Amino acid sequence: MIVQPKVRGFICTTAHPIGCRKNVEEQINYVKSKPACHVGKKVLVIGCSTGYGLASRIAAAYGSGAATLGIMFEKQASGKRTATPGWYNTKAFETFAEKDGLYAKTINGDAFSDEIKEQTISVIKEDLEKVDLVIYSLAAPRRTTADGTVYSSVLKTTGTEFTNKNLNLMNNTIAEATIPPASEEEITATIKVMGGEDWKEWIRALNAADVLEENAVTVAYSYIGPELTYPVYKNGTIGKAKDHLYQTSQEINKEWQNNGLQAFVSVNKALVTQASCAIPIVPLYMTLLYKVMKKHNLHEGCIEQITRLFTEKMNNHTFITDEIGRLRVDDYELREDIQQEVMKLWEQADTDTIQELGDLDGYWEDFYHLFGFAVKDVDYEADVDIDI
Ligand code: NAD
Repeated sequence: MIVQPKVRGFICTTAHPIGCRKNVEEQINYVKSKPACHVGKKVLVIGCSTGYGLASRIAAAYGSGAATLGIMFEKQASGKRTATPGWYNTKAFETFAEKDGLYAKTINGDAFSDEIKEQTISVIKEDLEKVDLVIYSLAAPRRTTADGTVYSSVLKTTGTEFTNKNLNLMNNTIAEATIPPASEEEITATIKVMGGEDWKEWIRALNAADVLEENAVTVAYSYIGPELTYPVYKNGTIGKAKDHLYQTSQEINKEWQNNGLQAFVSVNKALVTQASCAIPIVPLYMTLLYKVMKKHNLHEGCIEQITRLFTEKMNNHTFITDEIGRLRVDDYELREDIQQEVMKLWEQADTDTIQELGDLDGYWEDFYHLFGFAVKDVDYEADVDIDI
């Protein structure tokens, strides 16, 4: 089949298997070109198929020589429908890993469920015995808890409504957008989905089954961003969930300190991923941020971020944290000179100037790459087998 992108709003409904494979291969090559690290030998990545989780899996395998077990929620191709990009990424990763003698197995299913936790534990027991690093990198729109309740996360502010500039990526125009405040129920639901409760449930289950090595480490990913986006991010519903994630890291540290388990939140940079495209106001910030960071040669994608996290912030069990114990790879993004420049551009940005001021091309390039499109040396006119 010839596979072309079909973009609908924030999502592309098709994915290209060869483009996805190339992306994975490029990430592997990047990690191989960097110094090795020691972050774990048997690594569980929850949310392993795209974005930061995929980068973590690749960096653990090719940087730290780790056997990796991944958990994802992806769809296989069916009829004329392509698989999701995470499916193709994972198939490609497994093929490369096998060729390179690295253990790689993946469980496809709902990570929030007890069933997938149990399945994971039996695979660990059978194949790996124990794991020494657990990366928690889920970004999900909803979660069904054990009693059958479905919680949906929302991207809203809290308190009062918030109005600011917004970039409409469908026609590159800038207009004001107003984000309504969330209700208490919406805040609670977002915390249920994106907070730390499920992370802790994973750690509890892994501990109870005795499949965590002594002195194991667990890391969950978070974001803070600049003051400009505080109303929609840090002080919004998602920020409340991230506060909960941080509190959970403290709780895990207390509860399992006897096993030497250490839990961290790593604050990462804003990047175009399937999860972040949907947040209002953030895309305009990202196009300006990309422009400024590229100009200063400080721009990083997921793989550069995670490679730096593993090699510089948590290598050999030496953890470089901020004053409250968080790992930080958002340091370049939040550098004062970078933010000052971004704020200046923010003031000037409107429909007439955005093409020049913002890195729209870079944004779209990253967006298409997520689905395996616009990748160098891929023949998009060629027939491809979509059922991998
Ligand atoms: P992503 O959408 O690229 O990846 C999400 C992963 O979660 C995928 O592997 C997907 O298969 C998996 N997943 C989703 N629902 C699942 C379920 N029910 N069961 C099993 N797997 C499921 O997202 P991302 O941007 O890489 O985000 C990962 C984490 O990093 C999130 O916590 C996010 O908040 C954080 N983060 C993202 C950014 C950013 O700008 N993108 C910045 C900092 C931190």
